[in-house]
Amino acid sequence: MKSNLLDFDLDAMAAFCETLGEKRFRAVQLFRWVHQKGARRFDDMTDLARSLRAKLPEVCEIEDLPVLSRQSSSDGTIKWLFDVGDGNAVETVFIPETDRGTLCVSSQAGCAVGCRFCSTGHQGFSRNLTTGEILAQLWHAEHFLRRALSTQERVITNVVMMGMGEPLQNYAALFPALRVMLDDHGYGLSRRRVTVSTSGVVPMMDRLAAECPVALAVSLHAPNDQLRDSLVPLNRKYPIAELLDACLRYLPRAPRDFITFEYCMLDGVNDRPEHADQLVALIRGHAGVGVPSKVNLIPFNPFPDSGLKCSPKDVVARFAKTLNDAGIVTTVRKTRGDDIDAACGQLAGDVMDRTRVAQRQARLRTAQQQTIRFVERVKQA
Ligand code: SAH
Ligand code: SF4
Repeated sequence: MKSNLLDFDLDAMAAFCETLGEKRFRAVQLFRWVHQKGARRFDDMTDLARSLRAKLPEVCEIEDLPVLSRQSSSDGTIKWLFDVGDGNAVETVFIPETDRGTLCVSSQAGCAVGCRFCSTGHQGFSRNLTTGEILAQLWHAEHFLRRALSTQERVITNVVMMGMGEPLQNYAALFPALRVMLDDHGYGLSRRRVTVSTSGVVPMMDRLAAECPVALAVSLHAPNDQLRDSLVPLNRKYPIAELLDACLRYLPRAPRDFITFEYCMLDGVNDRPEHADQLVALIRGHAGVGVPSKVNLIPFNPFPDSGLKCSPKDVVARFAKTLNDAGIVTTVRKTRGDDIDAACGQLAGDVMDRTRVAQRQARLRTAQQQTIRFVERVKQA
């Protein structure tokens, strides 16, 4: 079977090249062709020896993911639905903002954690993605956007592992993928521009801290164990106190001096004034020192059969005020791409949704124009 070059970090690429009798600098060249230039064909890799170019297609390939659909939101957000085989699909979302372009990447087809408010969780777990499938999302999106915008410049400046799946339950595939994102010969992203979001897989948080400490977001969603048990079932295994201890251990290695806590605002469930008070006490008081953190309140994005509603705006604002007044920097996340179900927790890999092509193409044009303006701004900055 042919090797997929998207499965390799630079060390693995070097080991692969060694099997072909090639030195490490060849691996660097190949790696740059793939990730930095988005080459699809070995013939295009003009600085490789002709004999090597002829040999490569026999032993390896660059395995793109088949696109089932690409949708664009009126706000510039673009969502890809990729086919990962056996009826499974994963989603990837590009979110352009004035000063950055963020790609939200999936780590699993489905998710085994099964959070109550998450449509990926409701769909159950199919399988882990490979390193190549995680990186193909970035590779495909980055080079699609560069072609669409006719630019050689980097378009994706930030990656968040906040798509489908629990990244820390797929650590073996995640780790090399992160290394490629950070590698100067790969995507060259700084550790603070790559964020792993976790529902709290404590042992793997420690491993990430030791091996690849990128920015960390922790999906908290509740200020006490009883409530968190019911929202994030993994809490029964790693309760809040253990989770916050792991955050404190992570911080000395983290690229930022705070942890981001995500908190999905659910009407009447976790949004009452006493929950805000409990959250303040928890964050400020944990282990007698508190956890340096920022809180990101996410308005719940509804999906069919969730039985849950988003908290009203004024409730979210009051909740945020309680936290901010207590000195905890709290922001309310803007919902992006909700007209194409690309918002947090709406990613369910819905293969059926392939209608209204013309409408979608019109939206894509608008999105591309917005993205062009965004890239112009990035260039001027
Ligand atoms: N499994 C990881 C990363 C993927 S989920 C995690 O849970 O952190 C990314 C973020 O979206 C998490 O904070 C998650 O709690 C949030 N989320 C999931 N479903 C949501 C929904 N329906 N509305 C708003 N946020 C949601
Ligand atoms: Fe999995 Fe994250 Fe969804 Fe929970 S919120 S089910 S951990 S993807």
